[in-house]
Amino acid sequence: MQIKTILNRVQKFKSFVYGAVRWVDGARIPTLEVELHPRANSRPVCSDCGRQRPGYDRLPVRRFEFIPMWGHKVFFVYAPRRVECRDCGVRVERMPWVKGKHRLTEAYSWFLASWAKRLSWKEVAEAFRTTWDHVFFSVERAVIWGREHQDLSGVKAIGIDEIAWQRGHKYLTLVYQIDSHCKRLLWVGEKRTVKTLLSFFHWFGKERSEMLGFVCSDMWKPYLKVIAKKAGDAIHVLDRFHIMAHMGKAIDEVRAQETNELKANGYEPILTKTRWLLLKRPENLTDKQDTKLSELLQYNLKSIRSYLLKEEFQLFWTYSSAYWAGRFLDKWCTKTMRSKIDPMKRVAKMLRKHRPLLLNWFRAKGQMSSGVVEGFNTKAKLTTRKAYGFRTFHGAEIALYHALGALPEPKVTHEFF
Ligand SMILES: [Zn+2]
Repeated sequence: MQIKTILNRVQKFKSFVYGAVRWVDGARIPTLEVELHPRANSRPVCSDCGRQRPGYDRLPVRRFEFIPMWGHKVFFVYAPRRVECRDCGVRVERMPWVKGKHRLTEAYSWFLASWAKRLSWKEVAEAFRTTWDHVFFSVERAVIWGREHQDLSGVKAIGIDEIAWQRGHKYLTLVYQIDSHCKRLLWVGEKRTVKTLLSFFHWFGKERSEMLGFVCSDMWKPYLKVIAKKAGDAIHVLDRFHIMAHMGKAIDEVRAQETNELKANGYEPILTKTRWLLLKRPENLTDKQDTKLSELLQYNLKSIRSYLLKEEFQLFWTYSSAYWAGRFLDKWCTKTMRSKIDPMKRVAKMLRKHRPLLLNWFRAKGQMSSGVVEGFNTKAKLTTRKAYGFRTFHGAEIALYHALGALPEPKVTHEFF
């Protein structure tokens, strides 16, 4: 079988035929060149208007990189015709294997983008002996195409989250669709300000925003403000993941303070290596941690009391009636306010302040997948961390859309993989 036969099977162009295939002498990486020719009597197509037009002249030969075969780089070699278009003027003809002035064929670009979902961009570049820039550029094209072609109808529930990125306190705001039938990243914005979230709603559109039934977010003030303004009809839920994260932070603070106090007073360091133990759910503890916990419970430490308050609060989420959950919440807050543990008291105050939004959790139960936000949060952090190449917001944005956006791809590309 000839290479031409294979190419005609996987990538056939109506108005072009494959010509000679040859080795490139002296190439650092083994390379094949495949000639392309216009089919006899075919007329070139204007790249601007897409109509057949009379030929004008021919440009020098150009090379377009195709999917590598057996470790060999493959290039299409073709001298593009120019057309004399009566509407557009003199234009380069349309070549179905490539878009615009790119050097990578569409097929190769989609090929790289698809591997970049499974491997890091650096690994893709190494595996296919290409550059990081080519991989980035392919992913970027895939994301742009996908976002232009994605279907945004029927979005009922969204989750809003933020992740820290780069060093220092820089944030990204991420908006997910969290409907049970469709979970994906919808939008990424820089920072976590009022302006950031407003630009999401601007992009999403007024009509779609009004159709939202559920919005799930943290208690972050700028978000609360914008959500009330832009999705006022939706049930706004404070999600469990974020609230428990606030409690985790409070416990961390109590523990750090108490460790220092104990040390200063000459007590043995009973709290060392207990950080994760106090943050984990009891059912997730290892045997060793379990023993250590029972040991700790004998002491009347603020850290332990905070831990017990946190564990008690887990009950809140199991209620089915908002009324009884509300009663539980009030009792828990009163108890915590009497605890004399400042970081925990701050959490209680915050929960009291947002009581109605907290109880919305029970009105929305079963109608959205709020747990999804936590899963996405982990993946998003991993994506931005893994991709140390992304120094710019644009780089991070492209990587996140590619990894979490569930973006559509053109049908033809699937034939290669
Ligand atoms: Zn034209």
